[in-house]
Amino acid sequence: MGNKNLSQVKVDNYPERKNNLVIPVLSADKEKMAVNSEKHKMKLVKEKNKDNKDSSLIEGCLSKHAFLSSLDRKERQELIKEMSLYSAKPNVEIFRQGDTPGCIYIISKGTCDLIVNGTKKQSLQKGDIFGDSAIIYGTNREYGIKTTSDCEIWLMERENIENAIDNILNSTYQDSFTNINKFQSFSVISPNQKTKLVNNIYKESLTNNKPIYEKGDISNNLYILKDGSVTLKKDGKNMKVISKGECFGALEILANSNRITEAIPSGRTTLYTIPVFCFKFLYGDNYRSVIALTLIKSAFGNHPALKKLNLNFIDEIFKVISFKYYENETEIIRAGQPKGNLIVVPIEGELIDGSGRTVCQRNNLLFGKEIYEEDQSKTTTPIKCKPFSLLAMIKTSDIKQYFKCSLKELGEKSNSIEQLKKVNLFKNLSNQKLEILSRKIKIDKIPNGKNVITQGEEGSRFYIVKKGFVDIYVKDKYIRTMNENEYLGERALFFKEPRSASAKAKGDAEVYYLEKQDFETVIEKNLKEYLKERLYLQDNRVELEDLVYYMELGAGSFGNVCLVKSSKTKFFYAIKNISCKQILYSQLSSNLNLEKSILLQIDHPFIVKLVKTLKDQNYVYFLMDYIKGKELFDVLRDINVLNKFQTQFYSASILLAVNYLHERKIIYRDIKPENIMVVTNGFIKLIDFGTAKIIKDRTKTIIGTPDYMAPEVVLGKGYSFSADLWSIAIMMYEFVCGKTPFGDGLEEPTDIYLAIINE
Ligand code: ADP
Ligand code: MG
Repeated sequence: MGNKNLSQVKVDNYPERKNNLVIPVLSADKEKMAVNSEKHKMKLVKEKNKDNKDSSLIEGCLSKHAFLSSLDRKERQELIKEMSLYSAKPNVEIFRQGDTPGCIYIISKGTCDLIVNGTKKQSLQKGDIFGDSAIIYGTNREYGIKTTSDCEIWLMERENIENAIDNILNSTYQDSFTNINKFQSFSVISPNQKTKLVNNIYKESLTNNKPIYEKGDISNNLYILKDGSVTLKKDGKNMKVISKGECFGALEILANSNRITEAIPSGRTTLYTIPVFCFKFLYGDNYRSVIALTLIKSAFGNHPALKKLNLNFIDEIFKVISFKYYENETEIIRAGQPKGNLIVVPIEGELIDGSGRTVCQRNNLLFGKEIYEEDQSKTTTPIKCKPFSLLAMIKTSDIKQYFKCSLKELGEKSNSIEQLKKVNLFKNLSNQKLEILSRKIKIDKIPNGKNVITQGEEGSRFYIVKKGFVDIYVKDKYIRTMNENEYLGERALFFKEPRSASAKAKGDAEVYYLEKQDFETVIEKNLKEYLKERLYLQDNRVELEDLVYYMELGAGSFGNVCLVKSSKTKFFYAIKNISCKQILYSQLSSNLNLEKSILLQIDHPFIVKLVKTLKDQNYVYFLMDYIKGKELFDVLRDINVLNKFQTQFYSASILLAVNYLHERKIIYRDIKPENIMVVTNGFIKLIDFGTAKIIKDRTKTIIGTPDYMAPEVVLGKGYSFSADLWSIAIMMYEFVCGKTPFGDGLEEPTDIYLAIINE
């Protein structure tokens, strides 16, 4: 496309609609070819049979291997059995950098050079293994190998080793998931993030006593000790013995320093290694602050008074935090200082008093309610930190200056925000909006037997029960009793209409209330319209006989979607009908149940809302909000390729919807323009939850639309939420270029899969 501005490129042939397909597993043709091409460079000497000397050479090599040593004895024997011996003359290139890997090799005789970017990096000899990492980590060859003398080399084809690798990876995966939960500092990260982290953890077995890292090394890994023992030393002095299951190496990473100690294993030691890039990947370049913030949040969460603080306030408090790293025992607060002035959270290390007693452990706040109440009583002993401590410190005066109120007042604000969040109608409002709204809320005392609202009167207030009970009556008939935190009268904020029921205090009660005019100053018109619409959608009293057919909206794979209007509420809905015969014939019932249960638990402005499901003799119906608009698929064809702003807008909107699903452990699995509607107001809505699933961490089913599938989905070895992100990225490419990047124009799903994997 040269220098042409992408937005000027016209796309004539947009691809046709593609159907959802569940497809068979990819053939491994390319890998077979790689195996053959490597084998053909050498001559077969011994096929599979080995004498004792051969076996012990291979055994010895595998048992020292960082990854393959995790194989159990039987698996190792199986592998060895499949290996054959080949010979090669000098100057044979067994494989080149960038090739698809075919085999793993162990040298039995002779020498080879390992070559990176045309330069020799290493000379390999008898007992050395090569070609292993590309197969284990699923990359192309990271280096080339050339023989430098007459060689004999044991060769293991990737087919034979792949099952073994799978077994190791699966057991490592389970194992490290359990282990990462033990890792205190990260006990606060979300399960979803843990899954991502666990995918990048690897297990290492050490047999020699070489240091894991030395003083001055770059701090690029964090470790969990699984087996064996490790001692941290500084200048030859033992600083700390790491116990099993404990994490080490985190301090320098958080303090952004090189290693200040050395870590020495002894005996046979097994480690889980977590590379720092994982954190960059999870949290971005700011990962240190993010991790620290997470820890601080958990410290606040552990604190009896401060745990009430809204998490968003803590995000802001972060702006006034300073971090300090102490290599030696250091006095932090002198004896005789006021207690409520400084918040200290040990991120690493701990705080002790003058007599050496621990006063504050990692992930906790120094002092209890003194901070909350700004107690000015004085400390009687100095507070010190132990050597190698990383402390987060916040001056309470800075908080006051930043928020223009005290911590205690912040706590009270948080409380009323929490109240409002419990109201269905408000739960998707931003924290900011809720905070402003909460300031408008007033409290009223209702004596026993007095009405809160009266049926038939036009109301202007919305109520939340604060204390006690309120009984609901319709025409003097008792309906039900409302408890604390339940709310009533929200329709009055939107409509001018008489109250449809009365509410009477049962015993003395207290209520929060919000006046319509106050509500209107806070909630602008668009948002009000949205909330109003949601109010309709929450009303699930609609029945089949109330619905009047208007027109057909679209055809799905198993039924039509029609526009209907409720004669009761005068509100429009979209209804999808699926015939019971079809359900039986295509065995859809468990799928539909899943779709229903997922849709019923989600409520997001960018996702279609299921009001309820209905049923008659012949059909099952999904009653949804009517989305007035067009499929993004058609929109793309109307406005052609999108410009930068449009691409950002649609992608960001879709990300918000998908992120909302992922937070609830729902993976969507079929992101594509056909499943996204653009509403007449310009915003998007995700529809069609036929492929969505609730997963714990990973799933394997190959499902979706080929062009949009992530490679890990296609490979069928298990994938997670990030597969949806891949599909979003494919769609972004399509927005800008007018076609999908992989397999465009190809018809056969298997061809498309090959393109996804290879390109
Ligand atoms: P299926 O799951 O059978 O593929 P979909 O849920 O994708 O069915 O719906 C089929 C078509 O009906 C969609 O592509 C869209 O055009 C239209 N449609 C679906 N839901 C709605 C809705 N809530 N409002 C308006 N149109 C809709
Ligand atoms: Mg569909």
